Amino acid sequence: MKNILVTLFCACLLAGCALNLVTGRKQLSLVKESDLRLMAVSEYNTFLKANNVLSPGTSSDAAMVDRVGARIANAITKYYSSKEKKSVLEGYNWEFNTIDDKKVINAWCMPGGKVVVYTGLLPVTQNETALAIVMGHEIAHSVAKHGNERMSQAMVQQMGGMALEVALAQKPQETQDLFMSTYGIGSQLGAMLPWSRQQETEADQYGLIFSAMAGYDPREAIPFWERMSKAGGGSPPEFLSTHPSDETRLRKLKQFIPEALKYYTGRK
Ligand SMILES: [Zn+2]
Repeated sequence: MKNILVTLFCACLLAGCALNLVTGRKQLSLVKESDLRLMAVSEYNTFLKANNVLSPGTSSDAAMVDRVGARIANAITKYYSSKEKKSVLEGYNWEFNTIDDKKVINAWCMPGGKVVVYTGLLPVTQNETALAIVMGHEIAHSVAKHGNERMSQAMVQQMGGMALEVALAQKPQETQDLFMSTYGIGSQLGAMLPWSRQQETEADQYGLIFSAMAGYDPREAIPFWERMSKAGGGSPPEFLSTHPSDETRLRKLKQFIPEALKYYTGRK
């Protein structure tokens, strides 16, 4: 563990730390974002082919996911353009897909804005506002480059600091597995890594702001997370294994709501 920390520290000193434009935090960033986006396109398309994707034309659930996603994407694109932070969303090519799998309580966002929501999440969200809270949270992980941070750590710890394109050429399966577990995607619970406490706090804070900007009431986060922590009965849902919920989360969410409400002007 100590060696890993020393290696990460050195990596950070040498070249790998970048100031995050969304959170203002310095974070490890050894992997090129453009490489991650390329990998995401390929993994996303493979994933969609292997799963049952609902069409917004025939499914009201898929239409809702599309609508919420487009509203959040439009709101944050406008916001970051006006703040002259256009590069936050550089290379983003949003896609929102709904997977017909009622057993999976999960949602995620790959680099470049490739979003998936499983129908199993919808009985827990119960309404469009809560869905926006979850999608805002996942999109916040993505634009705050949390995946890059985790992938960078994993490349140092598990691939000896190898560059992503080299790892993909030499150890394609291992690298793909690492990518999927980094983004909390998979059918096996054990294969998914929970986000760190700091990443979760940032995703909650900015996710609430993003959903508020899109016209969704951030106060819905509290009843939603209360429902989520009770979901799944004896076996916790996929979403909870990557986004653990406890009293600390609820307390912090309550603290973030007044800030998010400044961006909320009701449905636009
Ligand atoms: Zn999260």
